[in-house]
Amino acid sequence: MDKSSDYIKLEAAYREIQIQLEEANDIIDAIRSGEVDALVVNGKDGHQLFTLKSADHSYRIFIEQMIESALTLNRDGIISYCNSQFAALCQSPLERLIGKDFLDFIEPGYKDLAKEVITQAWQKETKAELLLKNSSGNNTPVQLSLKQLDLDESISLSVIITDLTDIKKTQQLLQIKNAELEEAQRLGEELNENLERIVQDRTAELEAKNHELFNALKDLRESEDNLHSAFNAGELGSCSLDLKTGRAEMSERFRELYGLPVSGEISWEMVLSAVDPAYIPGLNKVLENCIIYGSPVDSTYPIKHLLTGEKRWMRVVGKCKKDESGNFVSVSAVLMDVTDQKQDEQRKNDFIAMVSHELKTPLTSVKGYIQVLQLKAKIEKLAFPMKALEGANRQIVKMTNMINGFLNVARLESGKIMIDFEKVELNKLVQEILEEYKGDIVDHRFQENYGPELFIMADWEKLGQVINNLISNAIKYSSGNTDISISCFQDGSNAVFKIIDQGMGISTTDLPRLFERFYRVENSKTATVAGFGIGLYLSSEIIQRHQGRIWAESELGESSTFYFSIPLAIGQ
Ligand code: ADP
Repeated sequence: MDKSSDYIKLEAAYREIQIQLEEANDIIDAIRSGEVDALVVNGKDGHQLFTLKSADHSYRIFIEQMIESALTLNRDGIISYCNSQFAALCQSPLERLIGKDFLDFIEPGYKDLAKEVITQAWQKETKAELLLKNSSGNNTPVQLSLKQLDLDESISLSVIITDLTDIKKTQQLLQIKNAELEEAQRLGEELNENLERIVQDRTAELEAKNHELFNALKDLRESEDNLHSAFNAGELGSCSLDLKTGRAEMSERFRELYGLPVSGEISWEMVLSAVDPAYIPGLNKVLENCIIYGSPVDSTYPIKHLLTGEKRWMRVVGKCKKDESGNFVSVSAVLMDVTDQKQDEQRKNDFIAMVSHELKTPLTSVKGYIQVLQLKAKIEKLAFPMKALEGANRQIVKMTNMINGFLNVARLESGKIMIDFEKVELNKLVQEILEEYKGDIVDHRFQENYGPELFIMADWEKLGQVINNLISNAIKYSSGNTDISISCFQDGSNAVFKIIDQGMGISTTDLPRLFERFYRVENSKTATVAGFGIGLYLSSEIIQRHQGRIWAESELGESSTFYFSIPLAIGQ
């Protein structure tokens, strides 16, 4: 098939264009490599000649090496030369850029600014920031640095274009970071202010507390001084015993009272060496009870003054102190010379003993006469006299018991009470005493509970008095038809006697004082019960002489429980 003439024409034109394109490419390559220094460009005003002389040659090589985009403009603002970086920025082939109006690559909104700076740049070096538009229509932020350039051929404008994309991004990031920093700074300042306020408040609190502490210390010192003065005025000695180290601290007065050296360490043995040997076991027991059970110390005993050899009576009153964990750590005590009171008491006791003794003699006679009359009334079967004599006899027994009680107190206090130790089985002693009650009293119910045999070293009669006293109190201070429970059992190395009644009970204020001499609870209920407050005192003295312990527990209005414990005989 013949090629049509149109097609042949077209084919020729295409070849022509292709040759032109190849030529153009060659020319551009030649320009870039510096082989060519003149060029004719078909611009909008027809053909234009662009020449590059020798100086321009080095300039061209220089701008081709640059990282930034660079171009030169002629007087009309036409691009007479540009580097490949500029081509990349515009996303256009290099050959399409040369000969173009530079303003065509400027974003329309910035064209006026671009025109202005280009005009200014012919006078002086100028800079401006604006947006460059690439062939895809995207904008790139750039900075233009314009400067007039004296080339060999003509005067041109050198334009260096710095891509600001990264800078802008960095600037934006910086702005964000700055804002974050400012916020952090603001928060920091706020925190600082708060902290400062808190510190100020705490400092003020601390100062107030310090002030309080200072005043408290002052008060404490004053009270210490007062206490010291009171101790001196009352001629009281003080001592403390550290239970961990065994060290004893004693005041000067304490040492004076015993006749101990006025300074230097003093052992417990030195203190005991002054005490009447008969009272040492009792004193040790009081101390032991204080250390183990926290019971208060209150003991009166005679001493032989270590310097003068004089007999003096001492009363020691003390307390055990606990640490934070509740362990007993030290004993603090006050010592006073009670010789004068003791002598007064002695006179009083002697008097009581004498009166009691004198009263016993006629009572024994009266008892004898009553027994004779009882026998006579029995033989003659005189019912009324028999009843009246029985009543009289009961009253005589009561009176004898009371007088015996007073006699015992008097004897005890003058140290004339003697304990005859023998091996005693506690269950048996309790059962024997209870038998006497069971015959007489029918309106209380006794619940008895005995464990295995409990052998102790005791005075049968004196310990019997204690048990008697506790049982009669349980009966006296509870109404008839109630239970009285009695038990004997072993607790560690001790034998324990325990008695519980369902009576009036004892208040917590009275409980610690029950064992004091002549102490009686005073209320409407006890007012109708006869007594002198010596039974429990005597009981506690007797138990102490058995190296034991006596104590009570109670719930007011409900019940009372009394205990005593005595060490088991060795070998049990
Ligand atoms: P008294 O001769 O007064 O009974 P005690 O020394 O035997 O003397 O007792 C002292 C006080 O203890 C009594 O006056 C009484 O108030 C109280 N008391 C003793 N035992 C009991 C008990 N079982 N129940 C209630 N109170 C008791």
